[in-house]
Amino acid sequence: MNPLEQASRPLHPAFDTVDTPSAALIDTCVHCGFCLPTCPTYLLWGEEMDSPRGRIYLMKSALEGRTAISPSFVRHFDACLGCMACVTACPSGVQYGPLVERTRAQIERHYRRPFTDRVFRAVLFRLLPYPGRLRLVLAPIAVVGHAMRALSRLRLFKRLPARLRALVTLAPQVSWASLMRGVPERTAASGAPRLKVGLLTGCVQRLVFPHVNDATVRVLAAEGCEVLAPSAQGCCGALALHAGRIEDARAFARRTIDAFDKAGVDRIVVNAAGCGSSMKEYGELLADDPAWSARARAFSARVRDVSQLIVEVGEPRAVRHPVRARVVYHDACHLAHAQGVRTQPRDLLRAIPGLDVLSPAEQDICCGSAGIYNLVEPDAAGELGARKVRHIAALAPDVVATGNPGCMIQIAASAGQAGLTWRVMHPVELIDASIRGVDPRL
Ligand code: SF4
Ligand code: SF4
Repeated sequence: MNPLEQASRPLHPAFDTVDTPSAALIDTCVHCGFCLPTCPTYLLWGEEMDSPRGRIYLMKSALEGRTAISPSFVRHFDACLGCMACVTACPSGVQYGPLVERTRAQIERHYRRPFTDRVFRAVLFRLLPYPGRLRLVLAPIAVVGHAMRALSRLRLFKRLPARLRALVTLAPQVSWASLMRGVPERTAASGAPRLKVGLLTGCVQRLVFPHVNDATVRVLAAEGCEVLAPSAQGCCGALALHAGRIEDARAFARRTIDAFDKAGVDRIVVNAAGCGSSMKEYGELLADDPAWSARARAFSARVRDVSQLIVEVGEPRAVRHPVRARVVYHDACHLAHAQGVRTQPRDLLRAIPGLDVLSPAEQDICCGSAGIYNLVEPDAAGELGARKVRHIAALAPDVVATGNPGCMIQIAASAGQAGLTWRVMHPVELIDASIRGVDPRL
């Protein structure tokens, strides 16, 4: 075909018309580049196509038929952490979240990954959103967890494939008790009830960090909330949504809405930032479903991060006792960038007498957790984790606080690799310790 014929050939979009990234949203990008310094992958590699601007350019090219969904195209989107630091940085209000979710949906449908990648991802998605299955897989770790951590210190360990190493180093510390513990379906408010709230117990949270759920219930009850934890709830769909498995995410969203609507709660409280940000997106996720769109919008409007809810209920009822510790607060990306929640956790921590609340350098940069990112992209995640730990270590904390279970696992694992043994906690655990007058480090 000569160049003239080639130029006049009609272009075929690489994307189909189901869950297509919006051309109008893409065109809000004016290519100014303000987002580049806050993008973790641009920071690591300095590659235009691994920046938000570059990725938006790739979306536009695919939409207009100028590029195909090739291995290199997929690579640039697999490398994106979905951290939404670009959304915070963008002066033009580019909504990168729905753009990358829909681009990933197109990739999921039109790109056949290498066999091992397909199997690895299929296992993760058949496991992580199902607490019953996850409990079975985590049970052996309750027994051999210490041996696994000792293994990771052997020189031979570095010769294992990166994803296998990540599975070992990121394996959470669980016990039989933590795997079997549950939250009561109803906890009464202390004093006259101010609100009736429903708690999302989370898939990883309920098994790996049940003490975070316990602390959340105690603090909410102490502040006058009746807390319901409907047993019918399942996964909120966050992992599926962020990976472009949009139909799976919709199914999880419908089930979650139904469970909390039946409980008749005023607010839905979330203590996992990644889950909270997805649940606040249900309105958009189900916008084209006439049977669910209104319910989804109403549901999203009632979702709150636990720190937002504690501020919202008003003047604290429970006395805060002193906690003498230096705490570094790390902004979880899906709390700070995706939900815009930055001041509430800090204000609540600063209200604890004796607590020294510090913020590390590069606080807008992701720690490398990002859902399943640290499992599927272990090298980049490892670099970001080590970088985050260096900045935190410079402040010599006693405790690191962050509002997302993924960040808690990633920071603890990265600190462990550097020989550091901070307590990594959820902010609500510090508030709970202060109310109960106990040392949170014990
Ligand atoms: S979501 Fe994060 S990693 Fe992805 S383009 Fe935006 S800033 Fe970069
Ligand atoms: S800051 Fe916003 S408008 Fe500027 S290049 Fe980045 S995404 Fe585009």
